[in-house]
Amino acid sequence: MTTPTTDVYELGSAPPLGHVPQKMHAQLIRPERFGEPQKAFQHEVIDVPEIGPDDALVYVMAAGVNYNNVWAGLGIPVNVIGARQKAGEKEDFHIGGSDASGIVYAVGENVTNVKVGDEVVMHCGSWDIHSPFVKAGNDPMFDPSYRIWGYETNWGSFAQFTKVQAHQCMPKAPHLTWEEAAAPTLVGATAYRMLFGWPPHTVQEGDVVLVWGGAGGLGSMATQLASGAGARPVAVISNDSKVDFCKRLGAVGCINRKDFDHWGRLPDWEDNEAMNTFTAGARTFGRALWDVLGERVSPRIVFEHPGEDTIPTSIFVCDTGGMVVICAGTTGYNADVDLRYLWMRQKRLQGSHFANDEQAYAFNELVLQEKIDPCLSRVFEFDETGECHQLMYENRHPDGNMAILVGAPEPGLREFKAG
Ligand code: NAP
Repeated sequence: MTTPTTDVYELGSAPPLGHVPQKMHAQLIRPERFGEPQKAFQHEVIDVPEIGPDDALVYVMAAGVNYNNVWAGLGIPVNVIGARQKAGEKEDFHIGGSDASGIVYAVGENVTNVKVGDEVVMHCGSWDIHSPFVKAGNDPMFDPSYRIWGYETNWGSFAQFTKVQAHQCMPKAPHLTWEEAAAPTLVGATAYRMLFGWPPHTVQEGDVVLVWGGAGGLGSMATQLASGAGARPVAVISNDSKVDFCKRLGAVGCINRKDFDHWGRLPDWEDNEAMNTFTAGARTFGRALWDVLGERVSPRIVFEHPGEDTIPTSIFVCDTGGMVVICAGTTGYNADVDLRYLWMRQKRLQGSHFANDEQAYAFNELVLQEKIDPCLSRVFEFDETGECHQLMYENRHPDGNMAILVGAPEPGLREFKAG
């Protein structure tokens, strides 16, 4: 696109360190474009946001791609722009992007944890750091001010500059390229909270963990985290070509969900014939799990996100006293639970959403220690932002995680040169 002759820098050519230009390139979603991602995102040049006293302005080198901005582009289940306008924000657009690597270019007057020039990755948890609930040491994930940066908040990472709360900035792993570093934090920290944030159901050595979408963004992180903790993750996939990928990450084996057809909502419990069909399907799935393990052990933790299609099976196969932990409903929001299994076998269905600082930092520490592979599968140009979200929307995206080059002029770079 042609760049206006104002204070704006071409993509890939960084301003002098600490110089914040007036304008920036960004990928915008506008309400009139809500729909499939390919059309929802468009390249525009707009003003760089101003930051507040507790914020940092980060020059984005690369942005990670997540499913949340498929939802933002579709305008469902929430119109994120309308929701913010109702809350008093004036912008009639959304800049998505909830993962990034980059360089700190400016900080607010209260900020002490980062400074201009720091190389960082950002987690996407933002909240009112002055809220009495948060200040009292409670989990900020339970504070009403909690918002996902680059989804519920504006000014995400699909732009040259992003505005974040300074506590979101964490050290970038030096061994990773910009695009590798941008890829894993949202899914990784989410998986970390799901697997370690809900005691007593934290992953223990030897536990069987059933991971839905084992080759996807969340699943690739969950498999590595569970395996790293000495557990036995079993990955569910839809194509046998994903087996090697999942095993390389530590899965003890895989189950191909296409071998079964009992998915979807539970029938009426009084319809014996339909219930028997479902139960037979779920039992066959359970036997496939035992075959992978080589013994009749059920998962103590089921790592869920498909939702409506799979929850009945997840509850069925979960071990007595185990937990189904869920962070999404990609296939639908009605979770049918046969309560007989839930109470008689004392199973737990636990909702989970992103992560707090402690959990995001703990995940990042594993990345810094080279214990987590970011599973970067494909790198996109800035103007392919719509395209990579479209692939994700159609479940045609490659295994693992995707990233978009923003300030990084080419893939494979670890260093930064200011203009
Ligand atoms: P992803 O990379 O697309 O992976 C999801 C995987 O789910 C796919 O690879 C697919 O694997 C599997 N899948 C698709 N349809 C399925 C079905 N009908 N039944 C069973 N499995 C199915 O996406 P992701 O990044 O892992 O995110 C998954 C969901 O979690 C999205 O809805 C996202 O918005 C949400 N999420 C929520 C949070 C949070 O904090 N609440 C954080 C991250 C992500 P196969 O086809 O191989 O089975």
